Amino acid sequence: MEVVQVLRMNGGLGETSYANNSLVQRKVISMTKPITEEAITQVYRSVDGISNRFCIAELGCSSGPNTLAVAAELITTVHQLSRSHGRQLPEFQILLNDLPGNDFNSIFHSLLPQFRAQLDQQMGSKSAPCFVYGVPGSFYGRLFAANSLHFVHSSYSLMWLSKVPEGVEKWNKEEIYIGSKSPAPAINVYYSQFRVDFHTFLKCRSEEVVGGGAMVLTILGRKSDNAAASKECCYIWELLALSLKEMVSEGAIDEEKLHSFNIPQYMPSPAEVRRSVEEEGSFAISRLDTSEIRWADCGSSCGGKDVAKCMRSVAEPMLVEHFGETIIDELFGKYERSLTDCMSKEEMKFINVTVSLIRRG
Ligand code: SAH
Repeated sequence: MEVVQVLRMNGGLGETSYANNSLVQRKVISMTKPITEEAITQVYRSVDGISNRFCIAELGCSSGPNTLAVAAELITTVHQLSRSHGRQLPEFQILLNDLPGNDFNSIFHSLLPQFRAQLDQQMGSKSAPCFVYGVPGSFYGRLFAANSLHFVHSSYSLMWLSKVPEGVEKWNKEEIYIGSKSPAPAINVYYSQFRVDFHTFLKCRSEEVVGGGAMVLTILGRKSDNAAASKECCYIWELLALSLKEMVSEGAIDEEKLHSFNIPQYMPSPAEVRRSVEEEGSFAISRLDTSEIRWADCGSSCGGKDVAKCMRSVAEPMLVEHFGETIIDELFGKYERSLTDCMSKEEMKFINVTVSLIRRG
């Protein structure tokens, strides 16, 4: 599966859009705000020329209320820093990256005007020039000019791999991601793909981020280092696999179709993230934390319905590409019931791995 072609969140602003079903991701951005602020402050204090131009890239920005959330936060923080240092406010460059299938139109059509209005209201006549650009392309390749970025942020995006690991189909027939029935070779190819991809990511960014510049990356992951198949990260997809299997037994999905479907994702542990950063060598780790957020935080009803809607806004385009459109409503009906059942018995959580990095000078 070519991720570049098939991966995108549901666009627009409708009922099943990512924009309307990404509350949990929004909460994660708020939870990691102290880490982001700390990194921005460090960049502001240590990088030369920062009071002229501050350039930030949001990688895997998607389209919705989260797209410009960190940019808004950054501008407020830098505004306060400039005032307390008695320096001029820099011009801001905000680079919004996602894959080409992302709904960039909604960003520029509806989100950006709101963002500008909010800035004007907050800062009045003191508002600094802020230039916002869309950068379509994969972050597993170069996206920006050498030595041009001061701060890179990415949340809930780097668990997406560049492709489904080669050969995984052979091993992972019973699962759609790593799961309790995945044999060791399936887990190994998933991890190898993560290592290759994350290394490439770090290498590309090392060319683009200036010395002393920072990156704050939050990745959907897990805590346990030796258990890539642990329930804390895998169960969300395992329940979807069960719903797909139910549809196979009802004759609505061809078994072969299910066997050949695997999600291009890997949820790393903090130790795996550390290992990759140290191996690549261009960045120093200033913080590496894990946090948790409940599945119930996906929406106001705190139940399976909101989790199913959130997962649908993320996975629908990929599922439609493989299985066709006709199965979707029924699949997510079944999935919602299993999620509700599971959540009534156990408090389920997503694990976030956040790493704050400084480009070695
Ligand atoms: N940061 C947002 C969106 C997270 S959804 C938030 O926190 O709500 C993950 C996003 O990463 C999706 O929009 C997806 O298209 C994007 N993405 C996945 N792989 C990517 C890649 N290789 N290059 C750029 N964007 C990617």
